[in-house]
Amino acid sequence: MTEKPKPIAIALLSGGLDSTLAAKVILEQGIKVIGVNFAGAYCPRPRVGKRNAEKAAEQLGIELVTLPIDADFIAMVKHPRHGRGKNMNPCIDCHTLMIRRAWAFGRTRGADFVATGEVLGQRPMSQNRQSLGVVARDSGVGERLLRPMSAKLLDATAPEREGLVDRERLLDIEGRQRTRQMALAEEYGIKDYPNPAGGCLLTEEVFSKRLAEAFDRGEDSLDVIELLSLGRHFRLPSGSRLVVGRDKEENDELLRRKPSGAVVIDASALPGPVGLALPSSGPDALVDSSDSTLAARICARYSDKRKETRVRVFVAGEAIEVRPATEDESAKLLVG
Ligand code: SF4
Repeated sequence: MTEKPKPIAIALLSGGLDSTLAAKVILEQGIKVIGVNFAGAYCPRPRVGKRNAEKAAEQLGIELVTLPIDADFIAMVKHPRHGRGKNMNPCIDCHTLMIRRAWAFGRTRGADFVATGEVLGQRPMSQNRQSLGVVARDSGVGERLLRPMSAKLLDATAPEREGLVDRERLLDIEGRQRTRQMALAEEYGIKDYPNPAGGCLLTEEVFSKRLAEAFDRGEDSLDVIELLSLGRHFRLPSGSRLVVGRDKEENDELLRRKPSGAVVIDASALPGPVGLALPSSGPDALVDSSDSTLAARICARYSDKRKETRVRVFVAGEAIEVRPATEDESAKLLVG
C-alpha cells in the first residue's frame, strides 16, 4: 500500500519569533513546511552573516526559498491601497503581495496552504480582524491562508476543514503581549530570534524620508532604492542625487552597487569618502559638470582636509581641484 503524501505548507518566514513559531506549530503536525522569505530593496540582506530567516529555517530544519522584492513591490509601496503605518510601511498591501507571491510559488511545489506568523490584535492597523480578512481576500489565497498563532480565534480555514491541519493543536494568541510566544519558544527550544519588525527599512524614519523624497522626484528604480540605506544623501541643484559614504565599508558598498550612469567621486586619497552622483532622471541622463564639481566639493567637506582651501578629488577618474563645501552649503542639500 502506498503511503499518503504529507500535506505541504508554505510558511512566510521573516525569522522573527511569531513566524518561526507559526512554522513550528505546523511542522509539529507532521506537515512538510517550506519557508519563504523576501529580500532586496527595503528588506536588505546583511552585509555579513546570515539573514534572520536563514537562521530560523536552520533551527526549524526546513528548506528556505528567497523571493525578490521587485519592481511590483516598489509600485505597491508608492501607491498603497490600504495606507501606511507610522513611516512609509504599507503593511497590509505588502503582506498581501508577499502572500500572493508565496502562494504562486507554493503552487509550483504542490502546496496545500500558506501559513503566516500574524497574530490577531498585535499591530493595530495591519493585524486586526478586518485587515486579516482583507489580506486573505486581496492576496487571492482566501481560505487557504492559515494563521496558526491565532487560528482558534478566527474562522476555520480550508486545510482545517479538510483535515490536513488539526485545529485543536493550533493556537489562540491575541494582542501585543509576547509572554506566550516566549514560553513557547522556550518549550520548542527556539533561541536567537530578533526583535519584531526588525529588518524592514520602511519602518525607519530616515529611510522613509529619503524614499518619499525619491518618489516625489520620480525616482523609483530598485538601483536607487537600494542605495537609500547607505551613506549621506544630497539633492544637487540640477536634480541629481549625490550619495556619500560614511566609512570605508560604505565606500566599498557604494562602488559595488554603482548604478549605470552614476559618476564616481573619489576623495579617498585625502583621506575622505567615495561618492556616487546619479543623474536626475532616465538611464540616458547625464551628471553635468556643475553637479560633478559640487559633488566633489561636498565629498571634500567630509574628508580630513575639509579646512583646506584647495584639495584634489577624482571625478570619473579625472583629478580636479576644488574648495571643500562649507557645513551650510552641504546641510542645505542634505536629504533625510
Ligand atoms: S514591516 Fe515592512 S516588510 Fe513587513 S509587512 Fe510591513 S512593509 Fe512589509
